[in-house]
Amino acid sequence: MSHTLPILVVGAGFAGATVARELADHGIPVKLIERRPHIGGNAFDETDAHGLQVHRYGPHIFHTNAGRIFRHLSRFTDWRPYEHRVLAEVDGQLLPIPINRTTINRLYGLDLDEAGVAAHLESVRVPVEHPRTSEEVVLGSVGHDLCEKFFRGYTRKQWGLDLSELAAGVAARIPTRSNDDDRYFTDTHQAMPAAGYTEMFRRMLDHPLICVELGVDYLAGRSLHPARHVVYTGPIDAFFDYCHGPLPYRSLRFEHEHLAGTRQYQPVGTVNYPNTHDYTRITEFKHLTGQQAAGTSIVREYPQAEGEPYYPVPRPANEALYRRYREMADARDDVSFVGRLAEYRYYNMDQAVGAALATAGHLIQRFTGQGHET
Ligand code: FAD
Ligand code: UDP
Repeated sequence: MSHTLPILVVGAGFAGATVARELADHGIPVKLIERRPHIGGNAFDETDAHGLQVHRYGPHIFHTNAGRIFRHLSRFTDWRPYEHRVLAEVDGQLLPIPINRTTINRLYGLDLDEAGVAAHLESVRVPVEHPRTSEEVVLGSVGHDLCEKFFRGYTRKQWGLDLSELAAGVAARIPTRSNDDDRYFTDTHQAMPAAGYTEMFRRMLDHPLICVELGVDYLAGRSLHPARHVVYTGPIDAFFDYCHGPLPYRSLRFEHEHLAGTRQYQPVGTVNYPNTHDYTRITEFKHLTGQQAAGTSIVREYPQAEGEPYYPVPRPANEALYRRYREMADARDDVSFVGRLAEYRYYNMDQAVGAALATAGHLIQRFTGQGHET
């Protein structure tokens, strides 16, 4: 009897949509429910009232070194090549972040070559053999002054925590360079879906074996969705009714604005404000999308403790709490947990896809006996 039921996927973000499509491609019927009124999860984009494509939940730039994941998504979208650049407003100047040769020379009024910058960084860094915190990572690569100017304030704003309270992996996302490379990412594949993320998701979910229901909260009525198996991509603590207490997630308030008479608001896609303003960064979408228009649309990100969960907060105490939920999850063979919220992992989009492909592979094996390759 139960084999006539679909697999239920909860959440239409990268994790949920990827699992749903993989299962459907292997002949397994899927019902996908999403709490929000749209697909795409946090990568959702839309055309604003002024005809410009914007990302409702903050800027999403696709980048990956995994050719397999890039090829997989390329089934559902063409790409617009795009290399993201970010400037940080420090001491009244707009300087490249990640810190590079230009940053050091302009900040300190120097004219060092690459070897000179490397030697400067070597002289100021405070090396730690096995950095455990983000503070140790930053001090170990750029020393005290650059840490205060570029990292401590931004991190305090973004997370409500000091660098020393966050796991090493957070600051380790940002490299340090002594050359002139001013790209935010150096991955082999860096691109934006040519028609947008939402269109890519629409194509991913456009399959006769996938039925999508929007505006449906799984946790508000679990028994309403009989299923052969559940793939859950929401917050793991909510799934278990917060029985070990709530896991901290960091939230954001997005302030979107259209500037009618402004063709270009800022020189690059994103400007970070480590030490001034209540927002962390401003993104101007035209840089990401390549759209031409007389006006421009921007978004400011204001971090906050309460609200939609956007970021897991990587620190040892939270990891320990997550482990307790994870043990409960591992004991359930009727539910798979995958994605940024369900695994409490600071995943980029490509990592969410990678995790979802792995989960789908296991389920395909289990429910069809087929080997699985992507
Ligand atoms: P989500 O996108 O969060 O999807 C989960 C879905 O599940 C949501 O739609 C949610 O509404 C739904 N859901 C939850 N609970 C329930 C329930 N009870 N019932 C029904 N539905 C439910 N990554 C990059 O690679 N590059 C970037 O530039 C980048 N920028 C980012 C900027 C911001 C501001 C943020 C917050 C994230 C950014 N990311 C970026 C990360 C990226 O958003 C995630 O990696 C990706 O969205 C994770 O996909 P997911 O499916 O795991 O989660
Ligand atoms: N960070 C910082 N200053 C910056 C950029 C980043 O201190 O100008 C730190 C900060 O702690 C941030 C983390 O590095 O949360 C990761 O930055 P990233 O841009 O990857 O964050 P995301 O895009 O995921 O919000």
